[in-house]
Order: sequence, then C-alpha cells, then structure tokens
Amino acid sequence: MTAVDRLDGMSEPSIFTRILQGEIPGTIVAETERVFVLQDISPQAPVHLLVIPKTQEYRDVVELAAGDPSLLAEMVQTAKAVAEDHAGGQFRLIFNTGADAGQTVFHVHAHVLAGELQEKSLV
Ligand code: ADP
Repeated sequence: MTAVDRLDGMSEPSIFTRILQGEIPGTIVAETERVFVLQDISPQAPVHLLVIPKTQEYRDVVELAAGDPSLLAEMVQTAKAVAEDHAGGQFRLIFNTGADAGQTVFHVHAHVLAGELQEKSLV
C-alpha cells in the first residue's frame, strides 16, 4: 500500500493529491518515498516551493508532529535539500496552521521560501 492509498475514502483528494496523481498539472521538482516538492503556483519569493507528504491524512503540522514525527523530520530534511538545489541553502520554513493563520489547503505542507519576499508577504 502506498501513502496515497491511505486516503481510506475518508475525504476527497486534496489539490496536492490530485497533482501528485497527475490529475491536474503541477511542477514537481523533487520526490522522496514519502514526500514530494511542488513549485508554488503563486510564488511569494524568488524560490517558493511546497514540501508535501504523499499522504493527506494529516491536516496540519500539529497533527503531523503528533502522528508521525519521522515524516515531519523527512519534510525538514527535504526542505534543506531543495533549498540547497534551488537557493543558497538558507531558507524560511513556514507552516500555516489553521484558517485564521492563512491556511487554505488542509493537507499539511511546508512553504520553503528563499530570496526577497514579496512586500508584506509571509505566504
Ligand atoms: P495560503 O494560500 O494562504 O498560502 P496555505 O498555507 O494553505 O495557504 O498554502 C497553500 C499554497 O498552495 C499557496 O501558497 C498556494 O499558492 C498553493 N497552491 C494552491 N493551488 C496550487 C496549485 N494548483 N499548484 C501549486 N501550488 C498551489
């Protein structure tokens, strides 16, 4: 069973799952066994990538940290790797957590930002 199969019919596929499954277009720039990295469609900095678990069973980073800390660690390591490939290796790592904090996609993801941010933006 793959991570994507673990939806168990509990919820509709998220936009990120649909991109991973090739249903809708997206630019995937890196992938590990459990994580993929998507170019953000609305970049807020010269480098703006999203590190996303292949499973959508965790809505946000708090759920993920409680449920699968090693997957969270894999996300952080993947963020570092793509920041080295796409920027100078230094980066901002942002998890919007909850609608009031700006989260719009409830499939946990980390924003990896490098370079000068768009004015006033913290994604
Ligand atoms: P916010 O939209 O406030 O940044 P999130 O933290 O939930 O909220 O981030 C969702 C991110 O997903 C946004 O940065 C958005 O630009 C990005 N996004 C939405 N749809 C797509 C898509 N089809 N391809 C790539 N990125 C997308």
